[in-house]
Amino acid sequence: MAVIWINGAWYDRNSAKVSVFDHGLLYGDGVFEGIRAYQGRVFRLEQHLERLYDSARAIALTIPVVAAELAAVIEEGVRRSGLKDAYIRPLVTRGDGDMGVDPRKCSSPNLLVIVDSLKMWPADRYEQGIAVVTAGTPIPHREALSPRVKSLNYLPHVMAKQEANVAGADEAIMLDSSGHVAEGTGQNIFVVKKGVLKTPPSYAGILLGITRGVVLELAAQAGHPAREEMINRYDLYTADEALLCGTGAEIAPIRLADGRVVGTGKPGPITRDLMARFRALTRGD
Ligand code: PMP
Repeated sequence: MAVIWINGAWYDRNSAKVSVFDHGLLYGDGVFEGIRAYQGRVFRLEQHLERLYDSARAIALTIPVVAAELAAVIEEGVRRSGLKDAYIRPLVTRGDGDMGVDPRKCSSPNLLVIVDSLKMWPADRYEQGIAVVTAGTPIPHREALSPRVKSLNYLPHVMAKQEANVAGADEAIMLDSSGHVAEGTGQNIFVVKKGVLKTPPSYAGILLGITRGVVLELAAQAGHPAREEMINRYDLYTADEALLCGTGAEIAPIRLADGRVVGTGKPGPITRDLMARFRALTRGD
């Protein structure tokens, strides 16, 4: 069952409440993380916390506890939830203020941890591959709102997802403001051409996914060459294989991109190898 920790106390789904004056709600002023636990073990917790604290620093928000304390709350939340496989959502907002965007109106941040479960796509999508469409909505320009900050401003991503829904696709591919392929609405992207994996580099202004890092590690272990370089829709359309990866999505093969069949239209050998390695790493089988 879902358990929620708010500023030091535990709640259930019905009793967990935040103020209507919370600036996270009013202005999207806050940052968050999405983390998974597999078989009761939190996956890559340290890296997620590092990104959370960096996101907070980038928006001049001070998280009221140190990372070790937050880690202990997360571990306890997983235990209390009784969930073997859990999805964990730590969230920090500027806090309760009054009307007006000025962050000085908020005296102290609100810190929340939600532990629940998460379902992404049905199992057959992982076997057959997913269909993606390019969204007309780009990711925010890196100097408007850095995509490196995992902030509470997901409206462009929500609108891109809506475009995918309207098109009957499983996911949207978002471009950056100059038209390079950036990421999915909650995943990073890899393409494979002639045995070489390619993914947009950190300086592309994307969210640097923890799963993206895991895929690069697994590729290195398996001896699949991988490069971080800018990719265009052409690279996706002409790829031998393509995949999306993220904490929620894990590794999902792409079978169709804007109506073009990717590779053979079936999950390719490198994607399947990475999926198997990821499963072994997370589920330990
Ligand atoms: N890009 C975006 C926009 C995301 O929201 C996410 C999910 N956090 C990712 C990429 C993948 O990141 P991670 O692997 O750390 O979940």
